[in-house]
Amino acid sequence: MKLLIVGGVAGGASAAARARRLSEDAQIVLIERGPDVSFANCGLPYYLGGEIAERDKLLVVTPERLRTRYKLDVRVRTSVEAINREGKKVRVRDLASARDYEESYDKLILAPGAAPLRPQLPGIDLPGIFTLRNLQDVDRIKERIDQGVRQAVVVGAGFIGLELVENFVRRGIAATVVELQDQVLPPFDKEMTTPIAEHLAAKGVCLLLGQSAEAFEQGPAGLVVRLKSGQTLPAQLVVLGVGVRPENKLAVAAGLEVGPRGGIRVNEHLQTSDPDIYAVGDAIEVKDFVTGEPAQVPLAGPANRQGRIAADHIFGRAVRYRGTQGTAIVRVFERTTALTGASEKVLRRANRPYRKVYVHPTHHAGYYPGAEVMTLKLLFEPQTGRVLGAQAVGGAGVDKRIDVLAVAIQAGLTVFDLEEMELAYSPQYGSAKDPINMAGFVASGLLRGDHPQVDVEAVLAVPSPQRPFLADVRTAPEYAAGHLPEAVNIPLDELRSRLGELPRGREIAVYCQVGQRGYLATRILKQAGFQAANIGGGYKTYQLLLPNTKGVCGTG
Ligand code: FAD
Repeated sequence: MKLLIVGGVAGGASAAARARRLSEDAQIVLIERGPDVSFANCGLPYYLGGEIAERDKLLVVTPERLRTRYKLDVRVRTSVEAINREGKKVRVRDLASARDYEESYDKLILAPGAAPLRPQLPGIDLPGIFTLRNLQDVDRIKERIDQGVRQAVVVGAGFIGLELVENFVRRGIAATVVELQDQVLPPFDKEMTTPIAEHLAAKGVCLLLGQSAEAFEQGPAGLVVRLKSGQTLPAQLVVLGVGVRPENKLAVAAGLEVGPRGGIRVNEHLQTSDPDIYAVGDAIEVKDFVTGEPAQVPLAGPANRQGRIAADHIFGRAVRYRGTQGTAIVRVFERTTALTGASEKVLRRANRPYRKVYVHPTHHAGYYPGAEVMTLKLLFEPQTGRVLGAQAVGGAGVDKRIDVLAVAIQAGLTVFDLEEMELAYSPQYGSAKDPINMAGFVASGLLRGDHPQVDVEAVLAVPSPQRPFLADVRTAPEYAAGHLPEAVNIPLDELRSRLGELPRGREIAVYCQVGQRGYLATRILKQAGFQAANIGGGYKTYQLLLPNTKGVCGTG
């Protein structure tokens, strides 16, 4: 068996190492265009910021190690230029000598990744405008920073963009983020990103939402970024983080099928439309695990697992790729936010029925010092309670909850299973009722009818005369600090004695700060014969939903 692999980083290197573990006899050729294989792209921003001090730490495995330990024929600075499917050969170029030659294969794995988008705007090729994909990019950005950068503009507030911003600020550079959408981190639902936008502002980052860069010019003190709004931003460094495009040139030229967004089409064994050619990683179109729709999800975990599965299948194992859930996490200064499965906007677009709950628990027992509040949003099927998606934002413990929920989604668990989950607890790590259990209780209560809930957006969308009666069951000082329009304050502890103030025969929407007192109030009211429902996630969720479409600029 001669296995040829194009691309030597996440997907390609995983496939090669796995293939060797399965076959000592196979001839395995790993071809990589750049000088490095298996480097840590995910660590690049932290090397720029100095948290990862040594460049060498980013080189997870060297070509030499792959040669000696895995007996791989590794060729760096070498590019595959074309595929001849009939002849089962590729045309290879040694980039150092510009010499072309042919290499045959029995099986071919394409793992060429995705290239950062570089929109063709006026001035885009001026010096000082970068994208970030590999160590050479990071070297160029670092060199620019070392020459003296006071102001940086990051175009795009996705994962990489925000990681860069944090690291620029760490280096004392004033950072502005320009984002086309009206929120940061577009894969998340907007309200879940509000705490991140506020935190960025508190760190002095200027966040310009709903705006786009239109042109770049050379100014007296470096570059000038011109926005569509007419605003101009001075900068000595610009990094574009506006998304990636699958590297599908080889596949397209060879007549392999690609999807509408350019991802190479594969079956569940990761075979392309030619069964002798597999494709993995950022270059492929995957099946969304929850919706079943085609999707492109450029993440390291899926790329690595796909590499392994492709090698397994080539060497005769009956394996399938289950689809991609899009489980992802990012740290933004002292906040962490993570998601798994479908977001509310994806479910809406896919026309899938769903319900949602929000909880705002602490990451470990509230009485133990250092408890940090998180917001957890859970999306689930109304009929079955099957968990469809989850998002969390907070500090410590966000990672653990999203990972548990990622497993729940993959295992097809329901919100009723979350109620029953037995998770590790001592006060330093969790609560006897873990945030996962809490989300399960609230969601299950909703589905069982014990805990009727309404979404604050739905309540406020009803015109005032028809709107449910709004009862704020928080304390008077909490109410005075801010409340929903037209809400009447009846603190929970006075509710039983003030039932006469509430309308019969009209819906009552109850709320508190995070949902718990509202739940108790709903139980009291229902048993007293009122038509009551609790506003899910309380006033805190309403505050997250408050529109902030323009962004914030350096309030810290
Ligand atoms: P790549 O890792 O991009 O590797 C493809 C390789 O193929 C490239 O090195 C390219 O040079 C080579 N190649 C392409 N065409 C040819 C050719 N014709 N001939 C020879 N070689 C070729 N993901 C996460 O899950 N978590 C993170 O925290 C995270 N952080 C990131 C931070 C940054 C700055 C970046 C850039 C990415 C990050 N990612 C993260 C994404 C993750 O790195 C990618 O999803 C993953 O590397 C994809 O693996 P891949 O093998 O498909 O492609």
